[in-house]
Amino acid sequence: MDSAPELDPELLDKVTNLAKRRGFIFPSAEIYGGFRSTYDYGPLGVNMLRNVKNAWWRSMVQLRNDVVGLDAAILGPPAVWAASGHLETFTDPLVDCLKCKERWREDKIDGVCPNCGSTKFTSPRAFNLMFKTQAGPVEGEGSVAYLRPETAQGMFTNFANVLSTTRKKPPFGIAQVGKSFRNEITPQNFVFRTREFEQMEMEYFVPPAEAEEWYRHWIETRFAWWVDLGIPPELLRRHEHAKEDLSHYSRGTTDVEFYYPWGWDELEGIANRGDYDLTQHAKFSGVTLDYFDPTTNERYTPYVIEPAAGATRGMLAFLLAAYHEDVVEGETRAVLRLDWRLAPYQIAVLPLSKKPELEGVSKDVLAALQPHFMCDYDVTQSIGKRYRRQDEIGTPYCVTVDFESLNDHSVTVRDRDTTTQVRVPIANLTHHFWESTAPS
Ligand code: ATP
Repeated sequence: MDSAPELDPELLDKVTNLAKRRGFIFPSAEIYGGFRSTYDYGPLGVNMLRNVKNAWWRSMVQLRNDVVGLDAAILGPPAVWAASGHLETFTDPLVDCLKCKERWREDKIDGVCPNCGSTKFTSPRAFNLMFKTQAGPVEGEGSVAYLRPETAQGMFTNFANVLSTTRKKPPFGIAQVGKSFRNEITPQNFVFRTREFEQMEMEYFVPPAEAEEWYRHWIETRFAWWVDLGIPPELLRRHEHAKEDLSHYSRGTTDVEFYYPWGWDELEGIANRGDYDLTQHAKFSGVTLDYFDPTTNERYTPYVIEPAAGATRGMLAFLLAAYHEDVVEGETRAVLRLDWRLAPYQIAVLPLSKKPELEGVSKDVLAALQPHFMCDYDVTQSIGKRYRRQDEIGTPYCVTVDFESLNDHSVTVRDRDTTTQVRVPIANLTHHFWESTAPS
């Protein structure tokens, strides 16, 4: 059994508050009282979420020559979801508490109502999690459409298109990042489980004989990705599903779990989906979806290995893992120790005072850095307070322009984690940061 690390019992509240107060994540439609566990990503959150997705794209697409990207439609016809099995089986068991009438997911409550403690429930009903809507002005069977509950099906329905346009051959993958929608019965824990969320998924098509090997490969590759971006390995574990718990399409599933304030829970799932998806879509569409290998003269339906991660859930994990409190110059500070690739701003340019003499050179420094790094510029309050603000939002470096800068053409660079300061000539500044942040 993995041991549970010690966490601040108020961690979730602290991170939720910080996210709201500093502009990472706002409750959606807040001026109307909010809307059902739906969230908006503010000026800092949108930068960070984009960084999470870019880091994933970089490692899954840019740095590989066996994976290509896709951006498929969110709206889809019923046929896709009939073939995938979602119309029939994408359900959660729903029960109503007989005492307080609250509705719950049966598999998440251990037989006790989290609201009133009662143990008496209605018998479970299958509740389909897909959002159903209508495409076009005429209601009726022919106009039914669904919002996708996962991005994966776009990769299967475009399998033949991608194969014929890219000349890829198995093993190769198709990657996609985008919104998915599930009518979750009990959305909870901030952005951990929401009805609208973003996913980062990749379908890796392999010769069946290589499936097990690639399944193991992707479990390790994906685990390492989270660690590389700053999640301590002791807050992560692999959880392999027992055979009897596997989804209908799966021949093996391993979750990468994160230690959230409420305990171990899923961050990403890696599944060996066999040939289920391509076979189903071939059957329902009547289009052949297989691969002919001209070197062996063999025709086969590739197996699929799928690493499926949440971008919004991932951002929550990164925030939780990065939140720290420490003492600097006798004062407790909150600091987000975010990897520089994820931080909303990588550098803050801070003129020591509002005096006009400093403005020109400060703006020049900003203009030199901005094409290369996401920068903040702040002239309000004392320099100490401004450092704390940047620490709290995870900015790795502050650049302070002072009166000496006018003479020595240098600035002070302060490191968020160590708070050490070094003097760097303005002419070398971009290069200095390129060196400190060089991609691995
Ligand atoms: P869960 O068991 O938590 O409902 P799942 O096993 O159904 O999740 P998958 O279908 O494997 O999830 O989706 C892949 C990833 O997408 C999950 O690991 C998670 O990071 C993310 N995800 C799934 N549902 C949600 C949601 N409602 N809100 C936020 N992220 C989600």
